[in-house]
Amino acid sequence: MTELVREKLDLPEGKSKLLLHSCCAPCSGEVMEAIQASGIEYAIFFYNPNIHPQKEYLLRKEENIRFAEQHGVPIIDADYDTDNWFARAKGMEHEPERGIRCTMCFDMRFERTALYAHEHGYDAISSSLGISRWKNMQQITDCGIRAAEKYPDLLYWDYNWRKKGGASRMIEISKRERFYQQEYCGCVYSLRDTNLHRKAQGRPLIKLGVLYYGDEE
Ligand code: SF4
Repeated sequence: MTELVREKLDLPEGKSKLLLHSCCAPCSGEVMEAIQASGIEYAIFFYNPNIHPQKEYLLRKEENIRFAEQHGVPIIDADYDTDNWFARAKGMEHEPERGIRCTMCFDMRFERTALYAHEHGYDAISSSLGISRWKNMQQITDCGIRAAEKYPDLLYWDYNWRKKGGASRMIEISKRERFYQQEYCGCVYSLRDTNLHRKAQGRPLIKLGVLYYGDEE
C-alpha cells in the first residue's frame, strides 16, 4: 500500500476556514484526509443536483456522509434541485464531457458553495472534483475562482489534489474503505454516453450500485 505521506498544507493568503465542495466519497477521501492531517478547520458541502438517477445520488451522498461522520467532519447536505440543473443544461444535452455543459455544471455547484460559505463564515472554498483524472483541472479551477470572486473576502483554493501522490492515495483510500465505485460522471447525459460507448465496444451496460473499490481484485 502507498504510504500516506503528505506535505503539510496551509490555506493561502492567511485564510482560516474552508468549505470543501465534495462530489463523492472516492474523490473526497484523500482530499479530506490531507486537509485533516494539516489541521485545517473545514466542513464538507455536498451539493450535486447533476447526479442522476436519484438512486445513484443517494448512494454517493450516503457514502460521503458516512465517511465524514467517521472523521468527525461536519457535512452540509444541500439541495437536490434537479429542476434547476436540467433548466441550466437545456440545449447542452449533446455536449461532450469537459465541454460547456460541464462548465455550467461546475459553475452551478460552486456558485451555491460560495454563497453558503459567504453566509456562514467560511473564507475559502475548494473542491474534490479536480482529483479525478477524467476532469479538466483548469476548467474546474476557472469555475471555482469565478464563483468565489463574487464575494470580496472569499478565496477559491486551487490546490492540485492529484499531485504529490494524491491520485494514488485516492485509490488506496477508496479500496481501504471499499467505497462505491461509480462508473460515469454523474448526469443523465454522461450515463447515456458512457453506455453508448460500452455498447459500441460490446461491453455490458452500467448497473447502479454493484461495483465497489477493491472488488475487482
Ligand atoms: S458530465 Fe459530469 S461534469 Fe459534465 S455535466 Fe455531466 S455530471 Fe456535470
